[in-house]
This record gives sequence, structure tokens and C-alpha cells, in this order.
Amino acid sequence: YAFPLLSFFAGAKVPTSFPPESLDEVAFVGRSNVGKSSLINSLAESSVVRTSDKPGLTQQINFFNVGKLFHMIDMPGYGFAFVDEAERETWRELMEEYITRRETLKRVYVVLDARHGVKVADTEFFRMLNSKKTKFQIVLTKCDLLKLPELAKRIVTIEDHLKPLRNAVKDVVVVSSKTDAGINQFRKEMLFLTGH
Ligand code: GDP
Repeated sequence: YAFPLLSFFAGAKVPTSFPPESLDEVAFVGRSNVGKSSLINSLAESSVVRTSDKPGLTQQINFFNVGKLFHMIDMPGYGFAFVDEAERETWRELMEEYITRRETLKRVYVVLDARHGVKVADTEFFRMLNSKKTKFQIVLTKCDLLKLPELAKRIVTIEDHLKPLRNAVKDVVVVSSKTDAGINQFRKEMLFLTGH
């Protein structure tokens, strides 16, 4: 399963800049450094997103076309301790507006680093997502950095976190952008989700 070339078509710092709704959308979000940019680039098989960006610099939602199939959305990271309160609030509002209002949004993929699993900032974010109508699913990346038994334990812990959350998809997507493990299967699931 190859995706058509990804192309950037809109960036929004405020809800009024969201592009009109058209194709189905899937959005990616995660704490800084979890491997979100690398994941998007692996899925796209090209470097459309800059990796290891300094957090707090480009706090905007970026919209990409996956050919004419669907839209992939790159959300700003969350859980920056050193970003000031006002900035965090602006970000939270932008994110909540997008998640709440966007009818074409099919799923939010929350990216977690396999080594670190679920942190407090993630738990809070899960709760926020769960209170909205949008389904969300965990994508565990950097799975190449864990031995199989550790990875299995990590997945069980995440599933426990998700159990009480009604809008959480119970299956965890497990991938590595380094080895490409799970990437093709993930593309297939995304195409299915967006009606292809
Ligand atoms: P982002 O801040 O979430 O967008 O994270 P990046 O994609 O910039 O990745 C952060 C760091 O993790 C970089 O040094 C990447 O090379 C590394 N990284 C990302 N994905 C993987 C992976 O699947 N395996 C390994 N071993 N390293 C990864």
C-alpha cells in the first residue's frame, strides 16, 4: 500500500483559518519527540514534515493532501512544561475547536514513544479526547527500541488506560519509523478508514 505524494495545503493558527471541509481526515498528535514527524514521513515515504522541530515554534495545525484520497493532519505537540500558560491555553482552544467541529475528522491518532508509554500529560489528553465525539487510537512508535516481552507489557498497560474511555479504539497500532515495521499495515487501515 503506497500513498500518493503528500502535499501541504493549509496551516491554521486560529480556527477561522481551518480550510473548508472536503475529504475525510485523520489527525496525528503527540508529545514532543515521540516520533510523530518521523511517522508521518514514513507513511508518506518522503520528508514532508520536518523532524525534531523545536517545540513551541510552529504551534499550528498543518493540513496535507494524500493525493485525492484523504487529508492527513499534523497537530502541534502537547505537554510542554516550559511553554507559558497563555500559549498552552491558545493551543488547547485551537485543538479542541478542531476536534469538536470537524465533521470530516475520522480519527485522531495519538502517538506514544514505546519506551515511555503513557505519561500524565497523555492521560489528561486522552480524557479531553474522550469527552468529544471523535474516535482516537494509540500509535506506539519506536517499537524497534524495545524487546518483544517489554513491548507486550507496554501494550497491555496502554490497553488498561483505554478501557474506561468510550471513544478510544481498543487496538493499539504498533510501528517503527526506523525499520518500517507495521507501517504498511497502518497505511492499509487508514485507507480503509477513509473509505478506500
Ligand atoms: P516528533 O517531535 O514527535 O515529531 O519526533 P521526531 O519524529 O522528530 O523524532 C524524535 C527522535 O526520535 C528523532 O531523533 C528520531 O530519529 C527518533 N525516532 C523517531 N521514530 C523512531 C523510530 O521508530 N525508531 C527509532 N529508533 N527512533 C525514532
